[in-house]
Amino acid sequence: MKYETVIGLEIHCELKTKTKIFCGCATGFGADQNTHVCPVCLGLPGVLPVLNRQVVNYAIKAGLATNCEINGYSKFDRKNYYYPDLPKNFQTSQFDLPIAEHGWVDIDTEAGKKRIRLTRIHMEEDAGKLVHSGTTIKDSSSSNVDYNRTGVPLLEIVSEPDMSSAEEARAYMEKIKTIMEYIDVSNCRMEEGNLRADINVSLRPIGSDKLGTRTEMKNINSFKALEDAINYEIERQTEVLEDGGHIIQETRTWDPERGITLSMRSKEEAHDYRYMPEPDLPPIVTSAEEIEAIRKGLPELPDARRARLMDEAGLSAYDAGIITSSRAMAEYYDAITATGADSKLAANWLMGDLAKNLNAEGKTIEESPVDAKRLGEMILLISKGTISSKIGKTVFKEMWTSPDAPEKIVKDKGLVQITDTKEIEDIVDQVIAANAKAVEDYKGGNKKAIGALVGQVMKQSKGKANPQMVNELLAKKLG
Ligand code: ADP
Ligand code: ZN
Ligand code: MG
Repeated sequence: MKYETVIGLEIHCELKTKTKIFCGCATGFGADQNTHVCPVCLGLPGVLPVLNRQVVNYAIKAGLATNCEINGYSKFDRKNYYYPDLPKNFQTSQFDLPIAEHGWVDIDTEAGKKRIRLTRIHMEEDAGKLVHSGTTIKDSSSSNVDYNRTGVPLLEIVSEPDMSSAEEARAYMEKIKTIMEYIDVSNCRMEEGNLRADINVSLRPIGSDKLGTRTEMKNINSFKALEDAINYEIERQTEVLEDGGHIIQETRTWDPERGITLSMRSKEEAHDYRYMPEPDLPPIVTSAEEIEAIRKGLPELPDARRARLMDEAGLSAYDAGIITSSRAMAEYYDAITATGADSKLAANWLMGDLAKNLNAEGKTIEESPVDAKRLGEMILLISKGTISSKIGKTVFKEMWTSPDAPEKIVKDKGLVQITDTKEIEDIVDQVIAANAKAVEDYKGGNKKAIGALVGQVMKQSKGKANPQMVNELLAKKLG
């Protein structure tokens, strides 16, 4: 039998509020263990939570940016379970009245655009972290608990089971990450666990409209692990089904070292959590006006920005997609073109030399030694014909280590393009005289031979001769 894959993601996104969701403790990453704690987030008896309103505003922002309906009346619930990283023995979360529901985002697939529906977005508090004495829980004799992360605000973004491959799941998670970055509600540093996904995977016979039994892999925090875990799970489940077996609904853990998933525990159902309304927090009421005000404050989102770069600047879907995949890159691009630089040249330099240099040095675009304004000025010199694009590369290299304006670099280094006919003609004559073989080939009908001659002229002029003039002069002289 042939099977198709069904995937749904629950993405946890840490919000970048300064303080925690129900107390005034700091949220910063990397502090000494148990230094960002207080009686509230430690769950000591008798304390009361106070909601950080910024969390609600961020949640609404995220809901609007993903086309959700916002619930003006929403509430918190207690999700009860026991684990040492959860000092209250319940997590304050949302159950039946989440802040946002029924959204969607579009992703690009090989077969074109695909819409992934969002079931809901709810707010909750993060749990603490177990710090094992060994490298894994299995080879440790003891564990400490660090409660710094307890109470850091989280959004849980739940998708419908609308994805059907690892690539689609990745594209979806990348889209969510990009949107959260654009609206500036999370740092989205996956390596710090700001953004992590629980992946649900099942198979069903092709054409069947009934969902198969799923397994869940929790806390996946890299795109590679996401794809690898899904692909492994597809293979494993296919084998089980083809051998006539049944998939057990369970939570499995992804072992990146061995590249396999391992059974952890059987899956808990919602009723196991004994959800109940949180009595210590009033319902969250948001007026239509407040929601509209947040909607008006949304920045231009990735899809709209991409469409604009295609329509206005004439970029290809591919280029526009890459440039808008990160807000920083999109803003850098807009800043280049704000200097008046040509849009396609701007895209080429951004995705070409700039990206290459940043990659080589492991720098982000914010750390680029060449800012958008200087790059724009350099591109303008090319468009004006002051320098050729080849010389542009030399100037760019220079700019990487020098703070000088491109114009100054061009002057200081004597890189101005030669557009003086007489000067170019002299070089052309020398080259013709010195390359009898190529000249003969050309005259004998091998028109390609002119390439070698152009190359010689460019070389002798140290790249400064205007290439178009060189071509014209050579063609004229050779008849
Ligand atoms: P929970 O994991 O909390 O019990 P849900 O039933 O809400 O909750 O599902 C969580 C995620 O699993 C959702 O993203 C949903 O789309 C996905 N999902 C549910 N059933 C399946 C299935 N049979 N195959 C793949 N994904 C599924
Ligand atoms: Zn606290
Ligand atoms: Mg789940």
